[in-house]
Amino acid sequence: MDDVSLLKLGLTEDQKKDFNKKKVEFNKRIGSFLKVSRADAKNAECFICRKKCSSFCNSHSVPQFCLQNISVAGKFYHAGNLVDMPMLDKDKGIGEAGTFKIICSDCDNSVFSDYENPEAYYQGPTDKMLAQIAMKNNLKSISKRQFEIQLYRNMAKQFGNDKMMSHMEAVGSSDLNEYIYELQYAKKACQSKWDNNYYLSYYESIPYVVPIAFQNNIALVSDLEGGTINDIYNHLRDYVIKSVHICVFPLKNHSVIMMFCKNGEHRYSKFFKQFKNLSFEEKLKVINYIIFSYSENYYFYKGIDQEILSHANLKDVAKTTSVSVKNSPFADSLKVAKEAYDLNKRDTIPNFLSETFKVV
Ligand SMILES: [Zn+2]
Repeated sequence: MDDVSLLKLGLTEDQKKDFNKKKVEFNKRIGSFLKVSRADAKNAECFICRKKCSSFCNSHSVPQFCLQNISVAGKFYHAGNLVDMPMLDKDKGIGEAGTFKIICSDCDNSVFSDYENPEAYYQGPTDKMLAQIAMKNNLKSISKRQFEIQLYRNMAKQFGNDKMMSHMEAVGSSDLNEYIYELQYAKKACQSKWDNNYYLSYYESIPYVVPIAFQNNIALVSDLEGGTINDIYNHLRDYVIKSVHICVFPLKNHSVIMMFCKNGEHRYSKFFKQFKNLSFEEKLKVINYIIFSYSENYYFYKGIDQEILSHANLKDVAKTTSVSVKNSPFADSLKVAKEAYDLNKRDTIPNFLSETFKVV
């Protein structure tokens, strides 16, 4: 019964050869297509203060002071090194990593100041810091979804297949609404006099500098015992996907790792309980596995041993996507996704959060 599978990121060896032959033409065609979609997705006002804005700030999702601690001569590696994407450069500079443009410079300079301060991490984070991180994550997701929705519209215009594209657009729009709702919650939490808006499920300060930097919101599919957290293929109108926020911040002499969600968000309660019962080392492994299987927004220390980046299973896990390809309407995509994202496979990839890989 092989009637459902998940799409993998990256290209095969043959596709790579083919791509290298047509690289220039490909880059021109895709480049202009993306450019048009990006321009179409551009807003007229700042997403935070709602003031009219024509030139948006180049906002960073992962704070620059973290990227500096893993860069060599201002450069570091990104996910493209694991997923065989020859169209991407192998390394990135600090100004171009995980950036988005939907808020004005005034907001970018003022609203994240508590959490974007390395001095703040000698003790646990405040509720306000968590709210700022949540705001940033949701803004990045909003920017990404707005762009994708425009991309689907333009693809439908150019290539037809309206039905599939309008389905993709509808799914994207429902995600977008949830991110906007979460952003409003975070915005209110930033100004709140109460400090119980977010629930910090995990906070660890470790005495060495880890070789990865990460900050994102992630919708987990299943917990440590195979229970469903998010049914990501449920597209019913009132079913909402819920995310958890995860951060890995390499600092000057230590690192901070956090996992949190909105207070009262029950969908993660079981998972948090299971996670709490793990040992120090196992917790790090779970966070490490979540980052590589669910996200592409991690950055690597430029001085890392090159050999580790060609670790076969690490590359395979990094290519995981939740895009389900099925040839029967009865195929169980969720079951396949749970297997693909099974956190109990955490020992199959190197744990970059362990002391073995510390930046020296
Ligand atoms: Zn603004």
